[in-house]
Formats: sequence, C-alpha cells, structure tokens
Amino acid sequence: MIGGGWAGLAAAVDLSAQGHRVCLLEARRSLGGRARSIVVSGTELDNGQHLMLGAYKATLNLLTRLGVDPFTVMERHRLCLYMRRRGMAPLSFSVAPLPAPFNLLGGMLRCQGLSLGERSKTVLAISRFLASRPSSRGMQTAAAALVQVGTPASAQRDLFAPLCLAALNIDLDRADANLFRDTLRRVFLSRRSCSDLLIPSAQLTAIVAEPALHYLERQGVDLRLGVKVTGLKLDDGGVRAVQVSDSTVPVKAIVIAANPVAAQRLLPPAMQTAFSYRRSPICTVYLKYPEPVNLEAPMVGLVGYRAQWLFDRSVCHQPGWIAAVISGWGPEGPAQRTELEARVTGELERLYPDWPPPMLCRAITERHATYRATPEAERTRPAYETGIPGLLLAGDYTATGLPATLEGAVESGVQCAKLLAQCSPPRER
Ligand SMILES: Cc1cc2nc3c(=O)[nH]c(=O)nc-3n(C[C@H](O)[C@H](O)[C@H](O)COP(=O)(O)OP(=O)(O)OC[C@H]3O[C@@H](n4cnc5c(N)ncnc54)[C@H](O)[C@@H]3O)c2cc1C
Repeated sequence: MIGGGWAGLAAAVDLSAQGHRVCLLEARRSLGGRARSIVVSGTELDNGQHLMLGAYKATLNLLTRLGVDPFTVMERHRLCLYMRRRGMAPLSFSVAPLPAPFNLLGGMLRCQGLSLGERSKTVLAISRFLASRPSSRGMQTAAAALVQVGTPASAQRDLFAPLCLAALNIDLDRADANLFRDTLRRVFLSRRSCSDLLIPSAQLTAIVAEPALHYLERQGVDLRLGVKVTGLKLDDGGVRAVQVSDSTVPVKAIVIAANPVAAQRLLPPAMQTAFSYRRSPICTVYLKYPEPVNLEAPMVGLVGYRAQWLFDRSVCHQPGWIAAVISGWGPEGPAQRTELEARVTGELERLYPDWPPPMLCRAITERHATYRATPEAERTRPAYETGIPGLLLAGDYTATGLPATLEGAVESGVQCAKLLAQCSPPRER
C-alpha cells in the first residue's frame, strides 16, 4: 500500500481483515494524509475544517470496523443551512422531518429568505434537476444545468452555489453538472438520515488515523512511516517490488493510494492516466476568541463575503475557536495568508459586533486540497484498475462517482481491497 491517507488506510484495513499480508508505506511521519491534525500555537487543530454527511456509508463502516462509535467522534445534526447574506435578510433552509425526497421539497417550501414564488419555482426546478438524465454532451456545468431547469437566480446564488462549493470544492459555474446532480441525489433521494450533517467532535487524527494505526498494528501490518516510495518495479507478469530510497520491497500487488500528482509520477510513462488534474485549494482561517462565542447554527454560511462557512469549534471541545472556510479561493482568486487573516477578522467583526477581538488568527491553506471537478476532469478520472495485473489506484480522485471527499477516498480503498481479494487468496501470515 503506498499512502496512508483515508483511501490507503481503508484498503489496508480491509485487506488485513481478510488475512492478506500488507505493508503500508507512508511518506509522512504520520497517517491521515489530507485529513490530519496539526498544532497551531500549542493547540491541536485540523489541517482544515472537515464536515461529513449521513450519506458517508463507507466511512461509517470503516469507523465501525475500527471499533470507533461514530457518534463519540461526530455530532449528528439535521441538515440546516443558515446563510447570512450581505445586505439582505438571512436565508434559512432545513430539511423537513419527512421521508426523502419530501424532506428536501418540504424544506424548500418552508425556506425563509425566498419569496413564495421563488420557493415554488425552486421546488419545481430541483425536482426537474434531480430527475434529469446526464447531459448527452457530458460537458455541462452545474450552473448551466440549474438555469436550464428554471432555478431562480436567488436560490442559485444563495443556496446551490454555497452547497456546490462545500460539496465539490468548485464554483457552480465551473462544476460538472452530473457530479453535482449525483451528489444531491445521494444526499436527498436516499434514506432521510443521508442528509444529516456529521460534524467532527474530535480532531481528525483521532477519528481515523489513530484507531487505524492501532488496528493495523494488531493485524500485524508492516507499517512504515516516513518512507517515500520513489519507483515501481514492474515486468510483463505484473508488479514485482517498490523502490524506497536505496532499497526495494518485494510485493505481489500494489495499491497506489497517493495523491494524484504523486501517483502520476510513480506510474511508468506508458501507463500515465489521461486525468485532467488541476488543483483546487481550501483555506481554513482559525480564530481564537478570549471567551466562547456563539453562532446561530452549528455551521453558518456567508454569501457575499470572503469566508464562506463558519464552524464553532466548541463542538470539538475548543470553545472560543471559530473556523472560517474558503473553498477553491472563491470568486476573488488567490490571496496571501496575512491578507486572508485580516479580511476574515474584519468580516467577523462586522457580522458579530458583540464578540471581543480575536486573540489569534491563523490561515492554513491546503493548495492541493482536491482536484477541480470540472466536466473535463470528470470525464478523465482514472479507474481503480490500471491494466497491469496487481497494480491498482485508490484515492479521492479516482472514478468513484463521488466528489473528492473523505467518503470518496474510503470508498476507493474499499473497492481496491475487493478487487485485490478477488484475484489473490489470503496467504498465511
Ligand atoms: C482543507 C481541506 C478540507 C476538506 N474538507 C472536506 C470535508 O469537509 N469533507 C470531506 O469529505 N472531504 C474534505 N476534504 C477532502 C478530503 O480530506 C480528501 O478527499 C481525503 O482526505 C483524500 O484522501 P486520500 O487518501 O485519497 O489522499 P491523501 O489524503 O492525499 O493521502 C495520500 C497519502 O499518500 C502519501 N504519499 C504521497 N506520495 C507518496 C509516496 N511516494 N510514498 C509514500 N507515500 C506517499 C501522502 O503523504 C498522503 O498521506 C478536505 C480536504 C482539505 C485539504
């Protein structure tokens, strides 16, 4: 296994549980990849605020297998979107307590901040959008598809654009329509609980990386941290070994669960995928206040501001900490760390004038947070199987049908473990 992010961990857990001998090589000295904890001014925070959903079936299964009760590490909330809009009254949408899809449609009819006409048009438009087939041209953006079904501009700007940024990490007018539609279907057209928000109440490392480390150690997995794979040894019969600094590790199969750039570098030139990769960043601005401060809802959306979503870290037992998230840079484009810190601090001062000034503000930008989910990228996401026997690709960018998320990463790992298990029986350990 190359890579100890959530994809590599999920694959290693499943393969070792089936009795396969597994070696996991991770370049960093810690597990978790793009979902890990870091220390900021003596406080353990995450490399970025993460949010999960009730629809994250593979992730919830992984936690159960690791012996983690999901609801000791996450808070479950019924989906409620409270959007503060610059110069306008807030918009508030929450799913109705009805079976899907009436939870969505009923919630939309009661949405505060849209007129009756806008609400009725939005119900019709979203029903048409969810029922529509993938565009035959396959190159439609989510914005174009929503316009085509008659979505009012207000709902598009204040509801669907923020949802698209949160779910796909890309603006609505560049996002792939099919991926956005499939994501909304998974969340709103399945069980009612699929739309629940699962907000981490523990640091990310404590949710998966640490329990996985203990699990894999108990399973006898050969875990090597701080070991970067520099090449693969392949021949006509398949994979033979992986190269790490000045030695080789003989193997019978390889799952490359590295990020897309590293994975592409490891593949031989003739095997490189046609994946049209462009990065999309996520910046989390952490603010520490001298006393606990309260948001109107567990997460608050901002429309017309640089920050897009606010999270109260008291959920994570960190009262007084607020995480402000900016996905994909937003319409204003890239900015320096200090500029973002000053901008977000100023926005929160104006939005919450009763709060004291923050004692600390730190922006953490993950420049390669996810791939950019454009129609071009979606058409070229690589499959798990590479064509070389025993060489598989896992990771949030592979063709999971899901956006680049924790759930996509875990699902890819689970599928790779299944594929490997089909072609090689477990060996004696
Ligand atoms: C700031 C931020 C916020 C996010 N918010 C959310 C959210 O709210 N909800 C959500 O579901 N998702 C969110 N995501 C996305 C989610 O974190 C990723 O989709 C997921 O973590 C990707 O996991 P992965 O295992 O596919 O890849 P990675 O986590 O990138 O794991 C790959 C691993 O491979 C290792 N590696 C690379 N090259 C080598 C090599 N040559 N040898 C050995 N090891 C190597 C890397 O060090 C890394 O540990 C967010 C991401 C970021 C960055």
